[in-house]
Amino acid sequence: MAVAEAETRVREGVEYEPVIGLEVHVQVQTESKMFCACPARYANAEPNTVVCPICLGMPGVLPVMNQRAVEYTILTALALNCEIPEFSKFDRKNYNYPDLMKGYQITQFDLPFSRDGWIQIVDPTDPTQTRRLGVTRVHLEEDTANLKHIRGAAGETYSLMDCNRAGSALMEVVGEPDIRSAEEAGAYLRQLRSIVRYIGVSTGNMDEGAMRCDANVSIRPAGETALGAKVEVKNMNSFRAVERAIGFEIERQKNLLREGGRIVQETRGWVEERGVTVSQRSKEEAHDYRYFPEPDLPPLFIDRPWVDEIRSRLPELPEPKRLRFITQYELSPKDAATLTGSRSLADFYEATINTGAPPRAVANWVLRDVLRLLGSQSIESSKLTPEHLAGLIQLIDSGQLSVRSAPEVLEESFTTGAAPAVIVQEKGLAQVSDTAALEAVVDRVLAAEQSAKAIADYRSGKPSAAGFLVGAVMKETRGKANPGLVNQLLRQKLDASG
Ligand SMILES: [Zn+2]
Repeated sequence: MAVAEAETRVREGVEYEPVIGLEVHVQVQTESKMFCACPARYANAEPNTVVCPICLGMPGVLPVMNQRAVEYTILTALALNCEIPEFSKFDRKNYNYPDLMKGYQITQFDLPFSRDGWIQIVDPTDPTQTRRLGVTRVHLEEDTANLKHIRGAAGETYSLMDCNRAGSALMEVVGEPDIRSAEEAGAYLRQLRSIVRYIGVSTGNMDEGAMRCDANVSIRPAGETALGAKVEVKNMNSFRAVERAIGFEIERQKNLLREGGRIVQETRGWVEERGVTVSQRSKEEAHDYRYFPEPDLPPLFIDRPWVDEIRSRLPELPEPKRLRFITQYELSPKDAATLTGSRSLADFYEATINTGAPPRAVANWVLRDVLRLLGSQSIESSKLTPEHLAGLIQLIDSGQLSVRSAPEVLEESFTTGAAPAVIVQEKGLAQVSDTAALEAVVDRVLAAEQSAKAIADYRSGKPSAAGFLVGAVMKETRGKANPGLVNQLLRQKLDASG
């Protein structure tokens, strides 16, 4: 990465392009913390109850490395197309802040577990195209304690500290400054979350802090390769916040230059309620942290068979799966992206197709009705099975269930887990495809006074007038009539007696 200029100054008549790189911290879902035996799942625990002398940073204690955390980091790095060097080590990053009890963080500095990877995203400006965005490295470190800033009833302010999070395993995914818009940043982040969820190393939930993102944002004259003065934006707690904050920051920097100002290297915080970034402090340089090798942990030799074994655990990842869905099931890029956004939804889709159901129809039902019923829940939490969705589609295709009644049957199956055929029977929703029964209804509708105008219109050469009559028959049968058959019967009678 090129060294940033200390400031970016305005130039007349020049277009500016944004240059964005993300630093994403991802909590690793291990059983125990990074260097001690404390449980790493402390979400529902009382503050400061999931701690021990090691993660509290007491003098004289020794850290013990969590092998699973190392494996998960390498697995993530492989999923992000990184190289895994044979030699790696941990370092101490020294700084003073209340959430870091021992005054240093164990992290990785010059010899991380991985480097030189990339994430492929769908180009937000053209969904038929993709973009590869560089990943500098994925490394492993320990998380800090959690500070809660309180304003009391009398207006007094104070901070409370919860050490449960301290010492948990945390990956940092450092991105290259390849991102060119707020939308691309959002796509990168969503793709990263999808990947860590696919491989099961993290929940990736931003609202719970399992995924935290800082953004480095600068602008430069289009076509230039040197980087402008870099502003680090922090305090964004959702995908939407990341996109809004970056969008704001790009405009702020452009306006500043247009007004003859200059951009200085600094850290700014996103203020959600006001939709702005505000200056927090001038940026520290790396040497301020006085990194040195962690003396209490041995360096790591990562042998190739181990890397190969970890690589063999990789499932088909979201992007290859999306591309496969497009060709194999003839889906649009957007539909394929939605269906492969979560591994369980993609599995559900394919399991439904594997029962013999037509891919296009299954996609339509999943993308429209199933996703609406799910809301923010995952497919595993519903009682709908692939067999039942396929059964629903089969009932429609065979004429036993009308498209109009089908959503009601789906919802019932989704909530209760009952088979669509059983629901149709119990609720009396079977489609009426009995010609004799429908003929009687059609005759009634044609004889009714309010049909006279539509009949006259139809016979005077307006075939669309038949729609009113079809609607009347459907209403009479409470939506259970087979619309194709109704149409056919109506036209037969109208044409014959006309
Ligand atoms: Zn501990």
